[in-house]
Amino acid sequence: MANPHEAELNYPLGDTLPAVGTTIEVAPGVRWLRMALPFALDHINLWLLEDRQDGVDGWTIVDCGITNDATRAAWEQIFANELQGRPVLRVIATHMHPDHIGLAHWLTARWQCRLWVSATDFNAARMSSQSTTGFGGEQSALFFASHGLTDPEAVAKVRGRANYYASMVPAVPASFRRLMDGQSIDIGARAWRCVAGYGHAPEHIALVCDNDKLFISGDMVLPRISTNVSVHDIEPESDPLALYLDSLARYEPLAADTLVLPSHGKPFTGLHARLRQLREHHDERLADVMAACAERPCHAADMLPVLFKRKLDLHQTTFAMGEAIAHLHLLWHAGRLVRRRGTDGLWRFSAERK
Ligand SMILES: [Zn+2]
Repeated sequence: MANPHEAELNYPLGDTLPAVGTTIEVAPGVRWLRMALPFALDHINLWLLEDRQDGVDGWTIVDCGITNDATRAAWEQIFANELQGRPVLRVIATHMHPDHIGLAHWLTARWQCRLWVSATDFNAARMSSQSTTGFGGEQSALFFASHGLTDPEAVAKVRGRANYYASMVPAVPASFRRLMDGQSIDIGARAWRCVAGYGHAPEHIALVCDNDKLFISGDMVLPRISTNVSVHDIEPESDPLALYLDSLARYEPLAADTLVLPSHGKPFTGLHARLRQLREHHDERLADVMAACAERPCHAADMLPVLFKRKLDLHQTTFAMGEAIAHLHLLWHAGRLVRRRGTDGLWRFSAERK
């Protein structure tokens, strides 16, 4: 959801954006590039970090873009023009979503280097890439239907989308190096600290360089839109919004003038203002959901016009359903709402006493 208080943030680079196939240095040895995405969210930011491993100077890539010809071609331009003749030594994926890990299989094969990622996200990516779970298909359609998404056209589209993840992540490397919370990794002259975050992906790893006050935030902190936090069919009773809000607290100790390098939008300062905005945003949404459920029992589809004021296409509707369930589930797990399954098979949430 768009940030109405974006003016509280500061964009040190102004409106400058790296053109496809080029990079912009945002800190010494840290280069910013963008790849196109075929969604409403039209781009992803990726990062090149100067590195040195086993006596060889080269680069670490952070996040990959989705698998398609345009992204591969953009990478080839980067390789030809931006690497100063040095090799890629490692690929880090902040998490398992297609825009982040999609081309890891190709990049690691192309450069004969290792993928570094959390174990949870590595395994989730392998599973999803084999279309055994997630993001569409029969189980997903049944799950959304049980939360009120009964429009036959929408259900049919979700059901038919079993291959959605695999279309953008056709393969995942066969081996990886595990990133864990609190681990420090040396990339070139810098030490980067891994900070695990939850609620957006199974185990998202953000990277913090405390010395130089740099924060590669992945999708956990974005300047312009709120991070997607959704309940999925594979874990139908989960409480990802509570996990997400808890995870935000892990970024509070960072320095006030930290430069945030997010996966979408532009590099910014004002991290603590953004953390406060995100908490306030979700507090307001939770209050709206409570108010609606106090009037009558509601299912998640009832919450779409409460939470989202704009018209949603199918892609947005499934994201929005996941988010609506996440808000309901936080209140349910906190004991503020109860849920009942109606004779129509739909889960409804109400503020009545247990
Ligand atoms: Zn993501």
